[in-house]
Amino acid sequence: MRRNLQYEQKTRPASKERRLQLAVAGLRGMVQFHAPLKDYTSFHIGGPADVLVQPVDVEDVIRLSRQVAEQRVPIFVLGGTNVLIRDKGIRGVVVSLAKLRAIKEEPGSVLHAEGGVGMPTLIGYAIRRSLAGLEWAAGIPGSVAGCVVMNAGTRLGEMKRSVKAVRVVSPNGTVTDCPAESIDFSYRQATLPPGIVVGVWLQLKPGVRSDIEKVVKDYLRYRRDTQPLTLPSAGCVFKNPANDSAGRVVEAVGLKGASVGDACVSTKHANFIVNQGQASARDVLSLIRKVRTRVARRTGIKLELELKLVGQA
Ligand SMILES: Cc1cc2nc3c(=O)[nH]c(=O)nc-3n(C[C@H](O)[C@H](O)[C@H](O)COP(=O)(O)OP(=O)(O)OC[C@H]3O[C@@H](n4cnc5c(N)ncnc54)[C@H](O)[C@@H]3O)c2cc1C
Repeated sequence: MRRNLQYEQKTRPASKERRLQLAVAGLRGMVQFHAPLKDYTSFHIGGPADVLVQPVDVEDVIRLSRQVAEQRVPIFVLGGTNVLIRDKGIRGVVVSLAKLRAIKEEPGSVLHAEGGVGMPTLIGYAIRRSLAGLEWAAGIPGSVAGCVVMNAGTRLGEMKRSVKAVRVVSPNGTVTDCPAESIDFSYRQATLPPGIVVGVWLQLKPGVRSDIEKVVKDYLRYRRDTQPLTLPSAGCVFKNPANDSAGRVVEAVGLKGASVGDACVSTKHANFIVNQGQASARDVLSLIRKVRTRVARRTGIKLELELKLVGQA
């Protein structure tokens, strides 16, 4: 029987490569196929993305969201400071909001920051405007959007306290502004509608510049004294168990300084794993397993991951 080849060619589903191309077609921002992600993470670890995209503005994000949904390809938003990307990298589209970095002051001591604004930049801006309320976040390296999604926090406060509203682009490209009251913030998580956080409003208050600066400087000094900030890491690896600290528990079972390959439990703060050179995700994961197993055996505590594990092994 003769097969109708022309018909088959028309109806055959597009290849994975073609769907990826269609998902990122027409974007104005950078599009890079087979992009190494190592350099986009604070851990300096991780395999490549099928395609890495840096939208230039919210319109670009909307277009990307729609096309990704139409082509049914996976999408992951990467800030890069609390993730461990496995060695074979991430399939589908990885989005970096690094180009969405505008900040503007609005009436009533409110700052609006686009999703890709780094927390250190935002704190610097607030200081220059004598706006108080973000000092608790001094030293957190993530993007403001990542900090909302993770409800980032320190012993001085958490994101929940500063957020007034969040702008999200949904997978079908709709833009929704969610007031803080509609968001369920809990320990290192926030329940938001599915989509990409492209903007955050922060409610601050008028303050005295030198006072704000002092709190920030003191906290940065405290961090330098207690955390391994000179080596690549992804911040805290584990969530703190109830009424305890993960760092204290890991230290108590004798694992400060334990290593697998170039991945090492920091000798300065046992809830940090540092990359001493060429650590792979596999090294880090094997060290994480070792820590969890020993902690569970000796204390009964099941340590939960704070960092997000993504990609293929
Ligand atoms: C040295 C160091 C110190 C740190 N100290 C702290 C600390 O004191 N307290 C603390 O809480 N954290 C700390 N962190 C971790 C990290 O900075 C925070 O968790 C931060 O909130 C992560 O932001 P990010 O932009 O890097 O997001 P990522 O780590 O890349 O992503 C985290 C999650 O958020 C999602 N996400 C990111 N951006 C978006 C977006 N625009 N829209 C939708 N989803 C998004 C990602 O897909 C992922 O699921 C530290 C990290 C380092 C390296």
